[in-house]
Amino acid sequence: MLLLCPVRGCHLALAREEKRVVCPQGHSFDIARSGYINLLQPQDRRSKNPGDTADAVAARRRLHDRGVTDPLLRGIAEMIRAVPNDIVLDAGCGEGFYLGSLARETGFDAYGVDISIPAVEAAAKRYPECEWIVANADRFLPYADRSFSIVLSITGRMNAGEFRRVLRDDGRLLVALAAPEDLIELRGKGRDRVDRTVETFAKDFTLADRRRVTTAADLDAAAVQDVLLSIYRPMRAEPAEAMRVTFSLDLLLFRPR
Ligand SMILES: [Zn+2]
Repeated sequence: MLLLCPVRGCHLALAREEKRVVCPQGHSFDIARSGYINLLQPQDRRSKNPGDTADAVAARRRLHDRGVTDPLLRGIAEMIRAVPNDIVLDAGCGEGFYLGSLARETGFDAYGVDISIPAVEAAAKRYPECEWIVANADRFLPYADRSFSIVLSITGRMNAGEFRRVLRDDGRLLVALAAPEDLIELRGKGRDRVDRTVETFAKDFTLADRRRVTTAADLDAAAVQDVLLSIYRPMRAEPAEAMRVTFSLDLLLFRPR
């Protein structure tokens, strides 16, 4: 997969060397020992949104490993119906659970981007067969136009213009949003964000299908604490108690206009 230099006004192809990638203008980025490529620039590192912390990444991975999010994974898999020759980008891939799991099941080529170094590091260590990039996707996705047959955005920040640019004309985009009942026991009922999201994508995409996938899990106190950590609400007067917690996503499948 061709990678493009993220520097504004450059965007030339990056050539791969042993420990770095470099563009013809001399912009150079490191390849980490665990295999991911770090395309962050100084202004990204100063960003107010540097992404998930190592603690949040570890908490989220423990929850995935308990299997509580397997029904959500199944819902996403049924919605995108990927095949082995798909080329899939997960924009905002976090620690890689959804993309890495789907890639292992299906055998497609998988590419994940996230702004969090701890998240991408965890993804690269567990799923070395996929390619993982640290980059600020709010700014620029470091790929050529029409590189992917599927783009995933799973509870991440959405950049409709960039999603469209890197997606093939016959491709599909899967957007997963936290549904109103998601974690309702811990943070109350949330807003329904489907209409607003469809509107956000309307210039470039039409909605082809939608589905809500919901599951509930009986969690022990440690797992409840992990949920709170993963949503940055670990500070509570009382320690977490065992409880049943609801996980719910609105899945939206879009086609390019
Ligand atoms: Zn460059």
